Amino acid sequence: MSLEGKVILVTGSSQGIGQGIVLRLAQAGANVVINYRSHPEGAEETLAKVQAIGGKCHMAQCPGAQGHTIKADLGSVQEVRQLIAESIEHFGKLDVLVNNAGIEKHAPFWDVTEADYDAVLNVNLKGVFFATQAFVQHLIETKRPGKIINISSVHEDLPFPNFTAYCVSKGGMKMLTRNLAVELGSLGITINNVAPGAIETPINTQLLNDPQKLGALLNNIPLGRLGQPQDVASLVGFLSSSDADYITGSTFFVDGGLLWNYQEQ
Ligand code: NAD
Repeated sequence: MSLEGKVILVTGSSQGIGQGIVLRLAQAGANVVINYRSHPEGAEETLAKVQAIGGKCHMAQCPGAQGHTIKADLGSVQEVRQLIAESIEHFGKLDVLVNNAGIEKHAPFWDVTEADYDAVLNVNLKGVFFATQAFVQHLIETKRPGKIINISSVHEDLPFPNFTAYCVSKGGMKMLTRNLAVELGSLGITINNVAPGAIETPINTQLLNDPQKLGALLNNIPLGRLGQPQDVASLVGFLSSSDADYITGSTFFVDGGLLWNYQEQ
């Protein structure tokens, strides 16, 4: 699989799954835009790793991957539009958009505040909606095909008590993908969801520090382990490549079998 010559923006890529995706794409030769909101040091770490990959590639006389970091809050439509514009300005174009940035807030439904609801929906759905719109406008202007990959969750399908706003956002993402697969197909633009199960990243810090909850979760995962960012990233690499040209409107679960074996404790 080669992504040489492709320019790919991965939102929220200063850590976790987003960082894993950037590194996989760079290994395949893509130029990558690394987006962060509040941790420039995380974005710099991702960039240094991309440069190390690109450096090795250069020594083997192939065009090495390049990275570029951009600060933007995905919860602000204005900053989302700037992020897409600056990515295009830096690399001259965008070929693939990976909507990865996401947050969750824990609370029983009856205690969810308007501020927490807005925070989750703004980043996980509104930001994705308008990033995708700006990307599609760029593809239309430049008369080129392109690919959109949304990092969704098993919770686009699976209920998750105490995380209702999160489930609403990922369920919305599922319908965004189905709708746009139909609406954008004639433009040669594909859109798919990658839906992780339980992946070992900072979003799960609380769970990782609770041996009882972690043990119960592992019992629900047929493959018997948590996922790693690279488990998700390898599928994103494939979906970004021309090998996936005929795939659109689908959700692909990366969950060790969790979805079909889940029981809330
Ligand atoms: P994480 O908390 O480690 O990373 C989330 C990333 O999003 C960070 O880089 C963070 O800076 C960024 N982000 C958050 N708010 C932002 C904002 N307003 N603007 C820009 N960037 C912002 O979590 P992760 O596990 O790497 O999650 C990545 C994606 O995967 C999320 O969409 C999440 O919902 C999804 N997901 C994760 C899991 C899991 O178990 N880890 C499971 C299912 C889905």
